[in-house]
Amino acid sequence: MTRTTCPYCGVGCGIAAQADGRALTLQGDPAHPANAGRLCSKGGALASTVGLEGRLLHPMIGDRRAAWRDATALVARRFRETIARHGPDSVAFYVSGQLLTEDYYAANKLMKGFIGSANIDTNSRLCMASAVVAHKLAFGADLVPGCYEDLDLADLVVFSGHNAAWTHPVLFRRMEAARQRGQRHVVVDPRRTDTAEGADLHLALKPQTDVRLWNGLLADLLRRGAVDRAYVAAHVAGFAEVEAGLAGDDQSVHAVARDCGLDPAELETFFRLFADTPKTVTLFSMGANQSAQGVAKGLAILNAHLATGRIGKPGACPFSITGQPNAMGGREVGGLATTLAAHMDFDPASRARLQRFWGAPVMAEAPGLKAVEMFEAVRAGRIRALWVMATNPAVSLPEAGKVREALAACPFVVVSEVMAETDTAAFAHVRLPALAWGEKDGTVTNSERRISRQRPLMAAPGEARADWRIVADVAEAMGYGEAFAWRSPAQVFREYARLTAYENQGRFLNLSPLAALTPDAYDALEPVQWPVTPAGGTARLFADGRFQTPDGRAHMHALEAHGPAEATDPAYPLSLNTGRIRDQWHTMTRTGLAPELCRHAPEPFVEIHPDDAAPLAITDGRLTRVQTRAGEAVVTARLTDRQRRGSIFLPMHWAAAYAPAGQANPLVAARTDPRSGQPEFKHTPARVRPY
Ligand code: SF4
Repeated sequence: MTRTTCPYCGVGCGIAAQADGRALTLQGDPAHPANAGRLCSKGGALASTVGLEGRLLHPMIGDRRAAWRDATALVARRFRETIARHGPDSVAFYVSGQLLTEDYYAANKLMKGFIGSANIDTNSRLCMASAVVAHKLAFGADLVPGCYEDLDLADLVVFSGHNAAWTHPVLFRRMEAARQRGQRHVVVDPRRTDTAEGADLHLALKPQTDVRLWNGLLADLLRRGAVDRAYVAAHVAGFAEVEAGLAGDDQSVHAVARDCGLDPAELETFFRLFADTPKTVTLFSMGANQSAQGVAKGLAILNAHLATGRIGKPGACPFSITGQPNAMGGREVGGLATTLAAHMDFDPASRARLQRFWGAPVMAEAPGLKAVEMFEAVRAGRIRALWVMATNPAVSLPEAGKVREALAACPFVVVSEVMAETDTAAFAHVRLPALAWGEKDGTVTNSERRISRQRPLMAAPGEARADWRIVADVAEAMGYGEAFAWRSPAQVFREYARLTAYENQGRFLNLSPLAALTPDAYDALEPVQWPVTPAGGTARLFADGRFQTPDGRAHMHALEAHGPAEATDPAYPLSLNTGRIRDQWHTMTRTGLAPELCRHAPEPFVEIHPDDAAPLAITDGRLTRVQTRAGEAVVTARLTDRQRRGSIFLPMHWAAAYAPAGQANPLVAARTDPRSGQPEFKHTPARVRPY
């Protein structure tokens, strides 16, 4: 059996698998701390997805099969020419939380240190960029304080916009087990999801009123004397400003309940539970992050935990859960356009440090374009060469129709991919075949900062190559061979681990004990949480009350509650919310291959409350047109009182290949949080009509 890691969600479950050719047997790895042998439906169906049907097996220039040497030379030449003619910011990489850390590191190094632009952004921008900014503002760096053990130890878990039962099922099962000993669950979510269905309390708040709710909680904690004044005095800055800011609104339970559309008695119950339960974990995920006020929502949650000292302690922390398998690894090595590698920023000292470490000819001077901005720049002709790695933006970005226009207009598009035909690959001038899960070799970091190995089980098919190697080959063809002369993922990983401690001691993200791993030790690396010390990993951060800010204190931030970026109106009276379903992943390029996963929801649908459907003569199962100012879809109606009146839900997975009329993202307005650049996938004014 080979021990590896699931390629889907940020839980990062360990898998023990054996391959006979392409036939795979697998089970959960009982020795992996994230899952202790458990797997969900998606991880359990991996064996159905590793066939070669539809794989991209050879480099392609247009529709013609090409030699690697020719394809690489063409990519290098077109990028060099574009940079020479239009400058380094005329090119961009759009990468993915599906990449391994080594892949991400290589791509980031090429763009930020050798091309000299920061125009590399990741689809993780869509997933947790708001939490990253909130962490940086509150803690001084993008640091997740807690660990999964806290979910076992907590007496109260608050799920803020997080349907863990579907999106992080193995973690949810851990918490279900903790309920047997009395753990309580509160769900803050406009929808009655499976997580909410069995919870002790479900607060089905009005969309985009989260900041009002969390501000109200803080005001209530003050009224009850439940703020930990000693902790705040010793470790927190900004408390007085936050307290003063709360005075601007009526913070009575009745006023907050009215504004959030909640029952005052239920809100009072939540406030009391929170105040009375020192061991509280608040999980927040895409329901909070995917908002034009996603950063404020994250900060509001962090404020409540800092005010009560519930951080860095067993069973007590705010906990941002990542969607993707390696969103965290990408954040570590600078996969976001807004940071450099190893959690460094674009300040002169960090840029100079990184330039010295890399021996880089030219460093990016300032943050680059975030995902939505990047494709707007492609559409406007400011970006003229684009390399998309392991992701499908023609389906997954908001206003996806405009993204397709951008790709069609771009003079040079490269796609490195596992699959031969995706909605995005259809626009590629060059397609480069990449290794898939089960063939790749490297590391990923899960939501609790735990680095685990993905190990190869099967031989590389056709001419497919590791993403880090494809990047290194292009870098070499661009004339940067010496800095990209790695021969194995272990060499890439060691370089990254060295960087985390290079002139950089004292930072939380420190992997220095792993910087000298032999190839055998890299192969045998056991799951470990950073920061890594000579004694091993670190479960919790901030246990000593010290943060990474210049003054060592956590910073609370006063937050103003306001409505969504675009309110509903008589023409578009419903709030469209998009999201995932239990058994599919991203744009279905992998999970769509598994019949057992497709049975759960074989076609796209829209969920509507019966009271909203009745006046429009929309009945259960009827084909229904969903329209926004950005676009329209035609899907089957599902009438359910799990949906809040006035809001509808559309799953985001279906690509043109599966359901051309049923795609969600052409409908989502490309509005973003001004600080994080994360799109507001959870609210677009919409209307429905019978088809
Ligand atoms: Fe994979 Fe996530 Fe399921 Fe675990 S919970 S098996 S990581 S999809």
